[in-house]
Amino acid sequence: MKTTMEKLPGDTEGVSYELTVFRFKGSSRKAPTAYIQAALHAGELPGVVAIHALMPKLRAAEAEGRILGDITVVPAANPVGRAQYHFGELEGRFHLGTRTNFNRDFPLIDRPDKSALPKLPAGSTTDLRLKHLLVGLSMGHDIVLDLHCDFEAVPYLYVPARLWPAMQDCAAALGVEAVILWDGASGSAFEEASIHPWLQVPPEKASLDKRVVTTVEYRGILDVDDKLAKSDADGLYRLLATRGVIEDEKAAKPRKFTGVVTPIDHVEMIDLPRAGAILYHAKPGQRVRKGAKLATIVHTPGEPNGSVDIYAPQAGYVLTRIWQRWGRAGDNVFKLLGEAKSAKPKSGALED
Ligand SMILES: [Zn+2]
Repeated sequence: MKTTMEKLPGDTEGVSYELTVFRFKGSSRKAPTAYIQAALHAGELPGVVAIHALMPKLRAAEAEGRILGDITVVPAANPVGRAQYHFGELEGRFHLGTRTNFNRDFPLIDRPDKSALPKLPAGSTTDLRLKHLLVGLSMGHDIVLDLHCDFEAVPYLYVPARLWPAMQDCAAALGVEAVILWDGASGSAFEEASIHPWLQVPPEKASLDKRVVTTVEYRGILDVDDKLAKSDADGLYRLLATRGVIEDEKAAKPRKFTGVVTPIDHVEMIDLPRAGAILYHAKPGQRVRKGAKLATIVHTPGEPNGSVDIYAPQAGYVLTRIWQRWGRAGDNVFKLLGEAKSAKPKSGALED
């Protein structure tokens, strides 16, 4: 394995960042290759600790000559966001300098080749340089995994609809509970930038059935936990074995995905009708009927009519809720995987 430090200049004099890249060389040119990154949203650390638990397994496989395809690992993909503390709070989602989401505005290139990446003009900001660097590192890999997390959630995946159901084995290997299939544009999220070039080449050359591109949502932001990290590392390793990046017959045992699969236009984004304190009556992983009470919002404490209830607009599966017990009017509070199309359907991106 080779370890390198990628340097990233900052936007002001004397400031620069660096990120670690681990590269394992595969022994077979025919084997699929894999790229794994975590914490592009810099405060989402379940994937970082999963990679930390995965690395000894990869090193052991390397020592035993079982790494068949090249593997590139970026355990902490966003040192720029990681350094953004504002009045004691980490802002790892948006770049403070440009106010853009770290997981939007990636370059969409017209062929799966690093040389198709446009040259960055002088004056490009650090967040753009970072996006350019990450697309360059991931480009050309058959398997691209971007590890994130939600606020409070079951583990789930975003998967480009074109790669489903071929990616069922991956969802089963990772042990997630749900899969959201998306189509169309996502505001150029990393996942879209990873699949876009393959959708521009003729299907017989793209071999979409062999490709894996996904945003892995490893539960909630507080689920940074030793046991979960180890089981998530087992899941990542299983995926690599299942797809033949690593040789391990025991781990590669085929599995069938039995979780919830939902097109993105079935997702109900349930927002707060009023600002206030949130009392939850439903949690991620729960199935609810139409009209089930999901939460009570206490907006005028002490008054007889000081609270309002929110209900499920249709039957479905509670995927996520926010970790805060407060919010403003209009804030999204739940994502519900509806059984039918939502009355307010979303396309490729659910939120900023
Ligand atoms: Zn994220």
